[in-house]
Amino acid sequence: SEDQPVLQLLNVESAYGPIKAIRGVSLKVRPGEIATVLGSNGAGKTTILKTISGIIDPRKGSIEFKGQNITAKDPAFIVQQGLSHVPEGREVFPLLSVKDNLLMGAYTRKDRDGVGRDMETVFNYFPILRERATQDAGLLSGGQQQMLAISRAIMAAPALILLDEPSLGLSPKLTKEIFEIVVRINRERGTTILLVEQNANMALNASDYGYVLENGRIVMEDTCERLREKDDIKEFYLGLK
Ligand code: ATP
Repeated sequence: SEDQPVLQLLNVESAYGPIKAIRGVSLKVRPGEIATVLGSNGAGKTTILKTISGIIDPRKGSIEFKGQNITAKDPAFIVQQGLSHVPEGREVFPLLSVKDNLLMGAYTRKDRDGVGRDMETVFNYFPILRERATQDAGLLSGGQQQMLAISRAIMAAPALILLDEPSLGLSPKLTKEIFEIVVRINRERGTTILLVEQNANMALNASDYGYVLENGRIVMEDTCERLREKDDIKEFYLGLK
């Protein structure tokens, strides 16, 4: 139904050995929205995404995607259900061409026409990838690899994209460009997005609903419109002035 969240975490706890990285994390991502988890370095943002996509098994709690329990399921199974993860640091296949990286994103799909159309769509979002289509992905700049990683996720035609710090290591100009495309992907394709970011200003401007994470716990949540108005969260939780 309309009200059913695409993704729902209930009291999720994940740890690395004795270190509890996230505790009691509950959050919802509603259909068609961009949701964001904000927090400083080490707050646990990456751990949340890895737990959702099955890379880390949680110690406690549950995760539902499109009404189905995906807690601790195999990452390949979770991708097949329509959930794509763009990891921090991009992780493109450096020895494959740009085009083959994109086709790898579409490996579970049978609709060749749809795959061709989506390839055209990502080339229109990021024209540099069309120019570099036959080159090895390892030769791309950091920003271009981020574009490729996002594009590869689109090629899976997912219902939900998890995006880990798309601004990491990018210039302000390139960060702005990437965020503009993220918003277009959401608006034009109707893809629901969960974004984690240290760059609170960019994320709050692009997103509909936000959660503030501190030391592995969600300490605040609200519409991004309202979060943008609260100067204290920017100072105390996000290190912004
Ligand atoms: P970053 O922006 O650095 O990615 P983050 O908010 O994504 O930060 P996480 O990477 O999720 O934070 O890390 C949360 C906590 O878990 C940190 O205290 C971190 O040191 C710890 N941690 C992360 N990965 C590991 C690991 N493989 N082994 C042990 N501890 C880890």
